[in-house]
Amino acid sequence: MKTDLNQNTSSNPIKGHTLLVNVLVAAPLPKAFTYQWHSEHTPRFGMRVIVPWGRQHRIGLVQGAAPDQQMAENIKPVHSVLDHGECLSAHWQALIEFAAKYYHHPLGMIALEALPKALRVLNARGEEPVMVAKSREHAQKLLAERNDPLAASKGGKAKIDQLEKPVLNAEQLDAVAQLSSAAGFQPFLLYGVTGSGKTEVYLHTVEERLKRGEQVLVLLPEINLTPAAQALYKERLAPHRVVVMHSNLAELTRTKAWFEAATGAADVIIATRLGVLTPLPRLGMIVVDEEHDPSYKQQDGMRYHARDLALMLAKQREVPIVLGSATPALESWLKADLGAYKRLSLKNRAVLGASLPKVELINTANFPAKEGLSEPAMQALVQNFEAGKQSIVFLNRRGYAPQMVCNACGWVANCDHCTAHMVWHKNERMLRCHHCGAGQRVPTHCPTCGNQDLTGFGRGTQRIEETLTGLLPTANILRIDADSTRNKGQMEALLQQAHSGEADVLVGTQMIAKGHDFANVTLVLALNVDASLYSHAYRAPERLFAQLMQVAGRAGRRAGDARMVVQTRYPQHPLFDALKAHDYETFASHEMQARKDARMPPFSHQATIRADHKKLANCLQFLSTARELGEPLVDADNPVFMCDPVPLTVVRVGGIERAQMLIESESRPALHRFLTQWLAQLHELPGSVRWFLEVDPVDL
Ligand code: ADP
Ligand code: ZN
Ligand code: ZN
Repeated sequence: MKTDLNQNTSSNPIKGHTLLVNVLVAAPLPKAFTYQWHSEHTPRFGMRVIVPWGRQHRIGLVQGAAPDQQMAENIKPVHSVLDHGECLSAHWQALIEFAAKYYHHPLGMIALEALPKALRVLNARGEEPVMVAKSREHAQKLLAERNDPLAASKGGKAKIDQLEKPVLNAEQLDAVAQLSSAAGFQPFLLYGVTGSGKTEVYLHTVEERLKRGEQVLVLLPEINLTPAAQALYKERLAPHRVVVMHSNLAELTRTKAWFEAATGAADVIIATRLGVLTPLPRLGMIVVDEEHDPSYKQQDGMRYHARDLALMLAKQREVPIVLGSATPALESWLKADLGAYKRLSLKNRAVLGASLPKVELINTANFPAKEGLSEPAMQALVQNFEAGKQSIVFLNRRGYAPQMVCNACGWVANCDHCTAHMVWHKNERMLRCHHCGAGQRVPTHCPTCGNQDLTGFGRGTQRIEETLTGLLPTANILRIDADSTRNKGQMEALLQQAHSGEADVLVGTQMIAKGHDFANVTLVLALNVDASLYSHAYRAPERLFAQLMQVAGRAGRRAGDARMVVQTRYPQHPLFDALKAHDYETFASHEMQARKDARMPPFSHQATIRADHKKLANCLQFLSTARELGEPLVDADNPVFMCDPVPLTVVRVGGIERAQMLIESESRPALHRFLTQWLAQLHELPGSVRWFLEVDPVDL
């Protein structure tokens, strides 16, 4: 496939008539790079090429003939052509071009970062890794089998009818009927309480769409939800080809899956957010499960929202899309209210006899917590354990204690590189910074006064695990958080014990709250929720409510009489009334009104510009200059508001200080018109401040 063009370079037939092409390269500049083109093939979008880059070579994507065919003398030639962009269709081009425009991010960065590493990074010898050719062949073989009716009939179709499939209830049937028959671009909001059988709706719908030869993209918010989904979809949809794509796969597996998706060999693509940027030639429908989940927002590089890009993808490809959630994002809820999305509701739990847990609040003013747990919470855990049932203890903070302190002199272990405390990880005997990742051994004595009696302040999952071990010495207690699942296979092993019922108590972060269908959990205990109740972040209540509803949703999935116990100092907070009633709708309308009154999203549109530098003053100075540049662009036709530049709450991370400025408008087009003009000027600003723009930020 590879054509080496080097031999041609010196033999330009006519000087100045060399064809020039623009090549997209992963470089943080909003432009393509021009090279000479000597291949006999017509340059077209998506051809992968090797180009000289400084003293090295890089993989780039041909964008097309350069519009400005200037003199070619000082322009370097493309080194070689790797492939002809067979997989990178015009559809894919349209999507990444939209993303580049909408997120105001360099097209080259987006295009290349959307590809598996093997397709965009040369190996140490400056060649394309062999796994690319291997993966391509693998996909082509599958594709050939797929198109060969003889081979297809050999598939294991027989299995499918013997599988136990639940009989759908009326609401599910209606949803499946509408989703299966939808044609063209049509967004649906599948609003169903936890355990209402949304997954079953997806499965039936996907089955119908596959019968028509369509490809279906299923997006999930978390990597740890993909193994169960893959197993389920494979089993239920055999012999259709189901592949998984996420950032934690071995490179070869990822590359293979990409080729299967991009050639059309795979029928169902189960993926985390990056899946949305995969070429899908036969795409017929998109499912975005747990659409409200903040994990769909990429938090570095191109800060895209996978749900939003999925909507654009559906629109461009003219296919239906279903967003599923028990607690939809307010953005989506508003769209459904306005009729832009069709709402499909599942009001009850699907399993007969299952019901949502009864929510009880424990006021910690009356029942103070000892080692994190109040008396009634302990009683509930003991009771549930003695009854042979499973419990979940949910606490969104990992580590042993968020601070290590000296009670003699008041010293606190801080990170040297960040304005943050070090978190004590007792099990690993380490202090770790959760912002920059720095780690150090736990000191044996206070570095200030020499006191050897250092203690932890506050509680994380490890410390609660310790408390639980003291309370229930014979119970099998599992901790599931980012630390206990760091190594390959750990997550699967822990989830396996959780699902099998071997585990009596699961203690963990939001990792255990999401999506999992645990059969035997009948008690959920939520700790440490108060900080979010009165947080200054305007999305905090929405997030907390969604998290609590999600974690509540893990209980009572097969039987009634489940409980959820929330420890709080503020039981009178209105959020809890809605939680007790499992009433998302009341919560949403209350929150929606508050957003409307405050002109916050979804009633306004936002972007932030972030500035990073060793000195905060330089960040603020940069942002002020940026604001001055922006001011003349704002007028009655472009109603955009730039707020004051402010330091971030955690100012310094990894030795770099950070500040940001919020830009708002009630008109999305106006905001983007403004950003386009403004950024063109910002890119010209000299100086050493690093900056980037974020559109639709979610962490404010
Ligand atoms: P959700 O995704 O809405 O939280 P799930 O799809 O995981 O809910 O369904 C919860 C449980 O209910 C699963 O064990 C599923 O097999 C079961 N289930 C789904 N639909 C039905 C049905 N119609 N009858 C009986 N059980 C069902
Ligand atoms: Zn001290
Ligand atoms: Zn740090």
